[in-house]
Amino acid sequence: MSTCTTCPYCGVGCGVIASADGTIKGDPDHPANYGRLCSKGAALGETIDLDGRLLAPRIGGQNAEWDSAINLVAHRFTDAIRDYGPDSVAFYVSGQLLTEDYYVANKLMKGFIGSANIDTNSRLCMASSVAGHKRAFGTDTVPGTYEDLEEADLIVLVGSNLAWCHPVLHQRIAAAKAARPGMRVVNIDPRRTATTELADLHLQIAPDGDIAVFNGLLAHLAAEGHIDTAYVDAHVGGFSAAVAAAECSDPRNSGLSTEILRQFYDLWAGTEKVVTVYSQGVNQSACGTDKVNAILNCHLATGRIGRPGMGPFSITGQPNAMGGREVGGLANMLANHLDIENADHRATVQGFWGSPTLCTKPGLKAVDLFQACADGKIQALWIMSTNPAASMPDAAGVAQAIANVPFSVVSDIMARTDTGDLADVLLPAAGWGEKDGTVTNSERRISRQRAFLPVPGQARPDWRIICDVARAMGHATAFDYDSPAAIFREYAALSVAAQSFGRDFDISGLTDLTDEGYAHMNPVQWPVPARQKGRARFFADGAFYHPDGRARMVPVAAPMAQVTAGFHLNTGRIRDQWHTMTRTGKSARLGAHMAEPYVEIHPQDAKTLGLGPAELVEVTAGGERSILRALPTDRVAKGALFAPMHWTRQRSAAGPVNSVVRVQVDPVSGQPALKSGRVSAKRF
Ligand code: SF4
Repeated sequence: MSTCTTCPYCGVGCGVIASADGTIKGDPDHPANYGRLCSKGAALGETIDLDGRLLAPRIGGQNAEWDSAINLVAHRFTDAIRDYGPDSVAFYVSGQLLTEDYYVANKLMKGFIGSANIDTNSRLCMASSVAGHKRAFGTDTVPGTYEDLEEADLIVLVGSNLAWCHPVLHQRIAAAKAARPGMRVVNIDPRRTATTELADLHLQIAPDGDIAVFNGLLAHLAAEGHIDTAYVDAHVGGFSAAVAAAECSDPRNSGLSTEILRQFYDLWAGTEKVVTVYSQGVNQSACGTDKVNAILNCHLATGRIGRPGMGPFSITGQPNAMGGREVGGLANMLANHLDIENADHRATVQGFWGSPTLCTKPGLKAVDLFQACADGKIQALWIMSTNPAASMPDAAGVAQAIANVPFSVVSDIMARTDTGDLADVLLPAAGWGEKDGTVTNSERRISRQRAFLPVPGQARPDWRIICDVARAMGHATAFDYDSPAAIFREYAALSVAAQSFGRDFDISGLTDLTDEGYAHMNPVQWPVPARQKGRARFFADGAFYHPDGRARMVPVAAPMAQVTAGFHLNTGRIRDQWHTMTRTGKSARLGAHMAEPYVEIHPQDAKTLGLGPAELVEVTAGGERSILRALPTDRVAKGALFAPMHWTRQRSAAGPVNSVVRVQVDPVSGQPALKSGRVSAKRF
């Protein structure tokens, strides 16, 4: 028997047909992938064994009964809240959680503990896109669909190695380009990657050179008469200030020649159907939100948004980063795209939940949250389905910060992770294929993840663990769900309550979903309104979500090119691994692609350091070091390094490379920079 479910890796959100014997096929009817899979998705059957799984609760390293573990967690959190206040506790959750898990975690912290100290590893993924969208549109709205990528005449890929990180979308673009050879692809990236092979033009920018490129483009569009003045006059504010700021920018700060910039600008200006796809190279930056707005400015100024084949397109890294945004899984958001700062929004959510004590201000964002742990301000911490001791910048410092918390809980599928090893209590979570729920992909499409395997040992779905703790803390009625379907119905009903504010997010049409309907729910793109048919795209009609109904162009300044000693370290993913390898690391086939941690270094830099191919290089910063295998290649520019982020302390003596990434944070979004850290390097 086979089950239609969704791949648990990247934000493309491919449909998968899975069998309990491990047979995996792409779902030909799923609109994200139409049967395609990438290497990671195709190898899912090789990652579902029970080796290394956490199969029983553990307290202080010893197996324990569920009741003991739940009661201990509930009492320690309750005691901390009583003695030190609600802001003395924190949750750090994950874009790996399903929407129903995310919803109840957010409800417990914001509505029943009364703090907004719940942040997520999605802070590392797309928080700058959220902030940029909200500044420009008034809501966190992805305007377009995957079909726009196939209908565009020009696709601009910015800070995105789509071929490795979102491979099925890359396959869709490659197929569209093969069918329509006139389609053009431009790749803007400091590194030459597998994605560059599809590109007609590669703009090999300096680190953080993106704003200079897009400010230059906006100034060019304005100077040469390519503005859609009717659209701007009717629907967009801030045009003059944004253009004036763009004109103050020197495009050469991008590190590119005037000639190649002119080539790109003429191509963009002369092509109506343009989609600009951007990902972590834009978001994971100390100026990530400004980068996002520099891109959005160009689309707003030309009205190239929300129409077929046109628009800016943020691609999320994780399978349910979008679902987390929708349920308010970030420390500065409420559920259903409502705002913590808005008293009317808070009153609506509090009334709907019947909550005794709703948070009144934003909570700690990821970097600040772990700093508060280091500073002794957090008394109880619960980390769900993520491994921050390896994946955060300053990973070693984050590990020390977690160890510094008097009481820490980790729920995970694996018995040993860099983070789990630091926990006082480990709670065994059900994994992919063992639990039910929903996820939302990068084009706002909600899909079901369905169980097709028995839940092993004593593991439980995350939503149930969270509700068990909530009930033990005294919130029995509000967390009395018997299924993820019941949670989803409540979440959809909150969307009805939120509609009085005219927000973009609307799934009111799913409120009456029965258990049977939830079981058989087909992938559906929001909005799913109750009264009229939904729509695939936003903003072609010029209706935005700021109070005056207009969009905002945001003036942004390009950072000056840095001339300092040492190297720029860019960290990222490789094709066949996912996050900290807890699942993909089980597949020998996937491990064969890149078997050990390495660092790409320009051949001239390698020569200067006296490094031969495959020799070891020591990368250091802030008193931390990582020993990596040197891979000399001109894919990286002189002065730049690239290293994958997947290997943990448990998998490699090199330890997590993010230990040598010093903390820099975007001041608007709180997203940390992971693409241009300053490091030293020498032969080991
Ligand atoms: Fe899974 Fe992403 Fe690959 Fe699709 S592209 S199969 S969602 S990892």
